[in-house]
Amino acid sequence: MTVGIVGAGQLGRMLALAGYPLGLDFLCLDPAPDAPAGQVAPLLTGTFTDRALLTELARRCEVVTFDWENVPGASLRTLARGRHRPRIAPPVAALECGQDRVSEKRLFERLGVPTTRWRAVDSRAELESALAAVGLPGVLKTRRLGYDGKGQAMVRTRAEAARAFERLSAVPLLYEELVAFDCEVSVIGARGARGEVAIYPLCGNVHGAGILRLTCAPFGTAQLQRRAARHLTRVLTHFRYRGILTIEFFVRKGELIANEMAPRVHNSGHWTIEGAATSQFENHLRAILGLPLGATRALGHSAMLNLIGRIPPRAQLLSLEGVHLHDYGKQPRPGRKVGHLTVVEPSAAVRDARARRLAAELAVRVRIP
Ligand code: AMP
Repeated sequence: MTVGIVGAGQLGRMLALAGYPLGLDFLCLDPAPDAPAGQVAPLLTGTFTDRALLTELARRCEVVTFDWENVPGASLRTLARGRHRPRIAPPVAALECGQDRVSEKRLFERLGVPTTRWRAVDSRAELESALAAVGLPGVLKTRRLGYDGKGQAMVRTRAEAARAFERLSAVPLLYEELVAFDCEVSVIGARGARGEVAIYPLCGNVHGAGILRLTCAPFGTAQLQRRAARHLTRVLTHFRYRGILTIEFFVRKGELIANEMAPRVHNSGHWTIEGAATSQFENHLRAILGLPLGATRALGHSAMLNLIGRIPPRAQLLSLEGVHLHDYGKQPRPGRKVGHLTVVEPSAAVRDARARRLAAELAVRVRIP
């Protein structure tokens, strides 16, 4: 059984590594010849719209998934309509909804998932009415192609809003309130072929400059977990989803406020490789292949630290007892996620102390709650 992956980044790489023990084969498509998943699985090198390569992917794969949320929906539809018709999962409708912050917000509102106050902004006049409706401070974001804090600007005054608008307004925008959150969490879950749902313990996430730095799981109260699970289930059911879906939330005074969703395995779920009964990667594969979902129970208290820009010396990392290293095989570059570390400890207190020590030893600047 061959699984096609459109996009061959670190997520595709970890999907393949999770699938080999299950006896699966993989074939990836990516523009970069040195893409991380291409180092562990066969790779078709070319654009995501290359008809010949898409046809080859369809011919050679029973199921096609994606590891990047900005893969063109049209490419996946081409695959689904062609002669070979592999199953596409997750659904293209979920992918396309997540590509546009406005459709994502509308979906959250329609399904009763609380989100930020927001307005679409396509002109100076709409910026003025958005500022009047939403207020200051706020965040101006591009509707599409934003990630890791790119394509967004925090604005505290009208003058800052005008400057941010000048800088970003070549493309459609969204303005939303700046949430004075107490913490950020994400909920990750899988929906299988028969509509069964398996949801992981909540992840507590710390971002720096818009990039995820640290995840601790399990996190939060049982009540927060129940509410997040209810919201995720609504979105999964709405799309008749197959695979892993993630929703990121702000937590303000105990209330969940949805920020965005990702129709794929997620950075905040990397701890599940060592820290859960079944990893998010394996459960994604199980779900898209129509296999039974695996248990999502935590095996301890995990902390996942992203390695950004560079990987510290391997010998240094491997001398740290109980530290699991994941090197994505990427060229070092400032701001680039090049790997991560996970520790699994017997209690939250031990885990938090360990995460603090680890961050200090590796000179990773992160605010650990
Ligand atoms: P995003 O690309 O929307 O996921 O934003 C990346 C990070 O920027 C989030 O995880 C937050 O830490 C921060 N952020 C984005 N939007 C807001 C907001 N409206 N209020 C407060 N923080 C935000």
